[in-house]
Amino acid sequence: MDLGLTPSELKFRDELRAWLKANLPAKTSKAVKTADSTHEYHAYLKSWQRKLYDGGYAGVNWPKEYGGRGATFIEQAIFQEELALADAPERMGTIGQGLVGPTIIAVGTEEQKKRYLPGILSGDEVWCQGFSEPNAGSDLAALETKAVRDGDDFVINGQKIWTSYAHIADLCLLVVRTDPSAAKHKGLTSLLVDMKSPGITVRPLKMMSGDSGFNEMFFSNLRVPVKQTIGQVNDGWSVAITALSNERANLGTGLYVVFKRNLDAVIDHARKLKRNGKPVIDDPVMRQRLAQAYVDLEVFRLNTTRSLSILNRTGAPGPEGSIQKLYWSELNQRNAQIAMEVLGPNALSSEFDGGRWVYNYLRSRGNTIEAGTSEVQRNIIAQRVLGLPRSY
Ligand SMILES: Cc1cc2nc3c(=O)[nH]c(=O)nc-3n(C[C@H](O)[C@H](O)[C@H](O)COP(=O)(O)OP(=O)(O)OC[C@H]3O[C@@H](n4cnc5c(N)ncnc54)[C@H](O)[C@@H]3O)c2cc1C
Repeated sequence: MDLGLTPSELKFRDELRAWLKANLPAKTSKAVKTADSTHEYHAYLKSWQRKLYDGGYAGVNWPKEYGGRGATFIEQAIFQEELALADAPERMGTIGQGLVGPTIIAVGTEEQKKRYLPGILSGDEVWCQGFSEPNAGSDLAALETKAVRDGDDFVINGQKIWTSYAHIADLCLLVVRTDPSAAKHKGLTSLLVDMKSPGITVRPLKMMSGDSGFNEMFFSNLRVPVKQTIGQVNDGWSVAITALSNERANLGTGLYVVFKRNLDAVIDHARKLKRNGKPVIDDPVMRQRLAQAYVDLEVFRLNTTRSLSILNRTGAPGPEGSIQKLYWSELNQRNAQIAMEVLGPNALSSEFDGGRWVYNYLRSRGNTIEAGTSEVQRNIIAQRVLGLPRSY
């Protein structure tokens, strides 16, 4: 396998580097993410997304006719890597860009593509993903939020939970039960819902990291036009699987850069900080763990390259995305733990590196739950990648 970039990929990378140099926003106080991410912070992210859009860099591998660049997955991966290398702001509307947009491209009508894709890319419309419920997470098909047809509308009652960004979202990809008499995977419908519709109540939940990134959502006689269905009525399960495959198929190139930067900083601290009168890095156990973290990260980089070449060939993410999701989420937790051990009490101080280590540690706990738990990823890998029989 040739791991080098082609001349046209190199050209794309160099042009992007020059563009980022000229356009990266200054890191003002507005640019700092705190536990209570403010309106100002979101406005800052929106303006960065608009700049990317105007510069032709939003939706690198999305079709040109809907505001994308029409480039390859490899160029999209280069884009993510370069953004991370430049320490650019996080992207506004990751659910829209990573999950809803690719789903609309795959199964939406022409009208839906024209209506929704440009707003996702420009950052003007933020999406959330209304899948999980109190009694339906891993077993998503058990969801109970009920939609009853009334003329040209569905009337929806029920509850969702853990809905990231619902407190700031304009739109929601919502999965509801439209046929309670059908087998559980067969009676679902996926809808594109305006979050300003009467009948939706959003209640933020606080995570242990201090963020209020996700929410409870309650629906009381919410009316959604039937024409807002994406895919077919009662075939919402296949739409949900398309969305989840895209969510898990993170290209990983940007994550690698961020994880590597964090590990390099921890190694640097291990050289400077002293414990029992000696630099932390002189502790043989700690050296071993840091070396293992380095090796794990290189495995992640190579796996990313492999899944990228598969994606570039097939054009659509498959169940292999679960391998990457499982690997990066567990790796990030291990490395966040090592950081805490190297830094000791320093990690708890908000004055030490802006308190980011303890935040990373607490936030990383959710990584093996969000987008499907590790156990669920292992089941998918066993059954759908390796072809093993079901365990029950
Ligand atoms: C930070 C964060 C953000 C999130 N954002 C969203 C969002 O935007 N939208 C949304 O819809 N959801 C979101 N979620 C919810 C997430 O998708 C669910 O929490 C997840 O799917 C697990 O569901 P659950 O919490 O109901 O746990 P359960 O499904 O009840 O699982 C409990 C435990 O049982 C294990 N388990 C369950 N089934 C099996 C099985 N078949 N085999 C082996 N073990 C099993 C699980 O691995 C887990 O350890 C988010 C979650 C987090 C943490």
